Amino acid sequence: MSSRTGVQSKVGWPDAAADYEELRVASGPRSGVTIAIAVHSTALGPALGGARMWHYETPADGIEDALRLARAMTYKAAAAGLLLGGGKGVICAPSPERPEGELRRAILLDFGDAVASLGGKYVTAEDVGTGAADMAVIAERTSHVVGLPGERGGSGDPSPVTARGVLAALRACLDHRFGDAALEGVRVCIIGAGHVGSRLARLLVNGGAEVTITDVDPSRRALAEKLGATWIDPGEAILADCDVLAPCALGGVVDAETVDRLRCAIVCGAANNILADEHLATDLTRRGVVYAPDFIVNAGGLISVYAELHQLDRHGVAALVDHIGTTIGLVLDEAERHGTTPLAEAQSLALQRLRGGAAAAA
Ligand code: NAD
Repeated sequence: MSSRTGVQSKVGWPDAAADYEELRVASGPRSGVTIAIAVHSTALGPALGGARMWHYETPADGIEDALRLARAMTYKAAAAGLLLGGGKGVICAPSPERPEGELRRAILLDFGDAVASLGGKYVTAEDVGTGAADMAVIAERTSHVVGLPGERGGSGDPSPVTARGVLAALRACLDHRFGDAALEGVRVCIIGAGHVGSRLARLLVNGGAEVTITDVDPSRRALAEKLGATWIDPGEAILADCDVLAPCALGGVVDAETVDRLRCAIVCGAANNILADEHLATDLTRRGVVYAPDFIVNAGGLISVYAELHQLDRHGVAALVDHIGTTIGLVLDEAERHGTTPLAEAQSLALQRLRGGAAAAA
């Protein structure tokens, strides 16, 4: 076991919580792979964060990733008002190809043992490179795992909850910007019609919005036709003339080049790290574009596994999802009142909750 403090963050969170509670690094006895589990904070509850299986150039890169992502999870959970801390597991895959068969099983069992060794301080879930079936293997070695397949009592695919959370955030943005949260006639451009984007499109169309969809996968055009939505070329979507731009694919779509050319009133989507650089939040505010901080907007994924952990029923989940809208409304109002950005207010809110949790635990 080792611990580190003062690790540089690439996500630009306030420095006040730069300390990590624990960093566990192991060489899997069955698989030989490097496993890193970073527990950033348990001030608000067990550190929940996915298990990322990825091929890194060096194990040190994997460890750095675990630290960086664990920290972001702390703030994400705190901002969403969940009684969860932040952690992350990283499995350094031996090659860029997806490990399969016996090797995959050996890796997952090793990871399960590493999770178990933390005694519940860290709870794992699926992430990039892992899925529900992998969680079932990890569960052979530890009970501190969520995101199990539905037939195993797990929460299954989190994207329906994530899409509902995006919708709650989007309505809060509409209310803030136009004084009306109604979807009727609102023009929304969704970039990325995958798990979350396609569900969001359906919810919006059902609510009477005028939806435009794009995806690099041309087969998704069929969805647009089915829903009665408009299809737009992927290269044009970012600059589409619309009320709401909803990035639901990869991060970094709003960058130094696009920020001054956006033709939307609101940016609110599920993608992680929508802003290529956090300073762009200031540019958006300067231009009068409402930006809903993505780590609050997309907290539905976390809520989904949180519900599994605490065995919440659908009413409990619905209340937490609605809370996403309330939180977005709050940070937008505070940003206006203080002359800051919604991102700065969201970070400050998370930090306040974190400090409150740490003080209560002391
Ligand atoms: P997904 O892989 O199912 O869908 C992404 C879609 O975006 C795919 O259809 C893909 O073809 C498309 N795409 C990729 N690059 C594109 C581009 N440049 N332009 C247009 N389309 C592009 O992923 P998802 O589960 O729907 O998640 C979407 C985003 O939301 C990701 O950033 C993810 O990290 C984030 N997120 C998802 C969840 C969840 O519950 N699934 C939770 C939190 C955050």
